[in-house]
Amino acid sequence: MNQQSIQNELNNSLCYNSDYVTLNKREMPKITNLSNKIERQLPGELVTFIQRAGKTAASQGQGLYFVGGVVRDLLLGQANLDLDLVVEGNAIELAQQLAEINQGKITTHPRFNTAKLQWNKWSADLTTARSETYAKPGALPTITPGSINDDLFRRDFTINAMAIELNPSRYGELIDRYEGRDDLKHKLIRVLHEKSFTDDATRIWRGLRYEQRLDFQLEPTTLKLLKRDIPMLDTISGDRIRYELECILQEEFPEKVLRRAEELDVLKWLHPSLKGNGWLTEKFVQVRRISSPNPPPVGLYLAILVYPLTSEETEPLISYLRLPKSSAQTLRDTINIKAKLPALANPELSPSSIYRLLHGYSLQAVTANSLACDSPAARQHIRLFINKLRYAKPALTGNDLQKMGIAPGPQIKEILKLLLEAGLDGKVTSKQGEVELVEGWISKGKE
Ligand code: ATP
Repeated sequence: MNQQSIQNELNNSLCYNSDYVTLNKREMPKITNLSNKIERQLPGELVTFIQRAGKTAASQGQGLYFVGGVVRDLLLGQANLDLDLVVEGNAIELAQQLAEINQGKITTHPRFNTAKLQWNKWSADLTTARSETYAKPGALPTITPGSINDDLFRRDFTINAMAIELNPSRYGELIDRYEGRDDLKHKLIRVLHEKSFTDDATRIWRGLRYEQRLDFQLEPTTLKLLKRDIPMLDTISGDRIRYELECILQEEFPEKVLRRAEELDVLKWLHPSLKGNGWLTEKFVQVRRISSPNPPPVGLYLAILVYPLTSEETEPLISYLRLPKSSAQTLRDTINIKAKLPALANPELSPSSIYRLLHGYSLQAVTANSLACDSPAARQHIRLFINKLRYAKPALTGNDLQKMGIAPGPQIKEILKLLLEAGLDGKVTSKQGEVELVEGWISKGKE
C-alpha cells in the first residue's frame, strides 16, 4: 500500500482528518504559536540554540522542526530536555554545521541519516524527515526521505505526532494534523491509523506506558485495535520487547503499566506466569524506598517481576529477551536463592551458615529475595547478610599465612575461609586471636 492510499484509508476509516479538511475549506485554520511556551519552559541556552538552528536550516532552504515528546510535554507544561529535531533536508549536514557553531561534537548514523549533537551539557537528536512503510507486520520499516507530514504520519500516537516549526518565518507554529492537542486535552491515547499495532506491535507496550505515565486512557477504537492485535506481539524480536520493558521499568511507577498489561492480557504474552498484581505494587514501592534518593535499579525491578517464575520458566524468558550476561545472572541468582529460602528461614542458623548460603550471588538478587520472601526469619537473615556479613574479612591475609609457614596453594584459601567463618560466628575477634587459632591448627596438623 502506498503512502497516499494509507492516508486515504486513514481519512476514511477513522475520520481524523476529515473535520480538519472541511474546516480548512471554510476558514483559515487557527494557527497556534508556542514560542512563549518554548521561552518559558526551556533553558535560555537551548532557546538560543534552536533559534540559531532554525536560521541555519532556513538559510539553506531546509525545514527544521521540534517533534514528538518535546512538543507533547511543552503543551502539557512538563519539563522535557530530550530535543528531537526533524530536518526536511539533510540532518547530518545540518548537525555538522551546528556542531561548528556550538563547538559541539556529533555522532552520525549515515544509514538512517540521523545525528546526535552534543555541546556543553546539552544534546539534540536530528533526524532527516522520512516516511516509513512496513513490508510485513513487525518488520523494521523501509525508510524513504519525505516531508514533515510523512514524518508525523509514521508516529505511534496523535499526542506524539505533533511538530513545532523552528524556521524564523514560522517560528513556534504548531503542526497538528491528527488533533493531538485535542487528545491531550481529553487525556486520550489514539493511534493514527487502523494498522498501527499490526505494523509495529511495540506500540502496544508504548501505548500502555504513556497511558499510565500521563494518567490518560486508551481511546475506545484504539483500545479495540490494541486488543485485536495483541497476538502481533509475536512478530516483534525479543530485543525490541526488552527495550520496551526497560523503558517501562524506568518509569516513575512501572507497576501501573504492568498492572494494566495484566488487565489487558498483554503481560501474559511476555510470560504466562508473570503477575502485575497488588503484590508486585507493594514490592516495587519497597524497591523505591530502599533505593531512594537514587533511581531504582532496573535490574532489581526485573528480578522482582520475574520472582514468581520457576527456574525452568526463567531460562526461556532470558533467551527470548536476550538479556545481557549480568542481568541474566541476576535473574538466575534470584531464583536460586529463592530455592534456599527454607534453609534461610531456620531461626537457629549461625552467621557463617547464612554467609555460606548467600555468598557469591549478585547483590541485586539477594536484595530481591529480602524484599520478596514471605518468611520473616529468612528476611532477617538476608538483611543481616546485606548489612553486615558480606563485608566481613579475616584480619590475616594470605601473605601473613605464608609468613607463618603455610605453603602457597589451596590450603591458604581454605584457612582464610575457616578464619572468616570463625570471625562471623564470634569465635575469634582480633588479629592475635586469628594467629593463635592458625597456630593451633598447624600444631594439630603436626600431631
Ligand atoms: P519519552 O517521553 O518516553 O522519552 P518520547 O515521545 O520522546 O517519549 P521516544 O521513544 O524517545 O519517545 O521516541 C521519540 C518519538 O518517536 C516518539 O514521540 C514517537 O513520535 C516516535 N516513536 C518512537 N517509537 C515509535 C514507534 N515504535 N512507532 C512510531 N513512532 C515511534
